[in-house]
Amino acid sequence: MATRRMTRSVVEDGRTIVYRLDRKEVKNLNLRVRRDGSVSVSAGRGIPCEEIDRFVQRKARFVLSALDRFAGMAAGRPQAKKYVSGESFFIQGHGLRLKVSWAEKASIVSDGTFIRLAVKNPADAAKKKRMVQAFLNRQCQAVFGEILHELHPLVEKYGVEEPVLRIRDMETRWGTCQARKGVITLSRRLLEAPRHCIEYVVLHELCHFIHPNHSKRFYERLAAWMPDWKVRKRLLDGTPQGCPGPNGSGPGNGNPSSRSMGGRNQEAGR
Ligand SMILES: [Zn+2]
Repeated sequence: MATRRMTRSVVEDGRTIVYRLDRKEVKNLNLRVRRDGSVSVSAGRGIPCEEIDRFVQRKARFVLSALDRFAGMAAGRPQAKKYVSGESFFIQGHGLRLKVSWAEKASIVSDGTFIRLAVKNPADAAKKKRMVQAFLNRQCQAVFGEILHELHPLVEKYGVEEPVLRIRDMETRWGTCQARKGVITLSRRLLEAPRHCIEYVVLHELCHFIHPNHSKRFYERLAAWMPDWKVRKRLLDGTPQGCPGPNGSGPGNGNPSSRSMGGRNQEAGR
């Protein structure tokens, strides 16, 4: 059957959320926020528009924060960096400022306040980028690897071997796991988040080695090991330029691997 489409809007916090309403043969109200900043709701034909508006209103905080995140991600893409002195790079929640200087021999070190990059030709942006990216990759490997090693004993008693860690650029996810292959993949940008948020993502993925889905038992296990996981997740959701999860204060399912915001079929899409 054909879908009927219309555009509606609600106002929350002085901001207008414009959304596309698709009438479909569905039982639930489903809301999606896409990376291009579009918001859409699909709803059964019998549900009054006012009720759908109220539904969007209830989800407004999630929608607005998702939109802000997408905008931040777009603004903060790595290629936007110029690798010049004064630029900030976040590691475990701390901003480190880049200081570029001349040296015969190229080097890069960090003292916890600055990333000191010395190059023979400070105008060579490509070279500086390579060096900074390699430095950040080493940080990812070290930080993520350490956290994985710290948390792995929790699942070890279930017969789970320490997974292989992969690090990728992932625009829409913090982490994924392939339990059968024994692999956890984490987003490079997760390095920007505070350490306890990184721990949450790693533990979430480790939990999937025991419970592959986001079942009730999955969350019981996660909460048993990390009672404050929702607080950590909420902080992660608010991390500038970060990838999302659902709004922790809402009905979210807490999944760093998707933009799902809870409820069947409710996802903030990719
Ligand atoms: Zn998950």
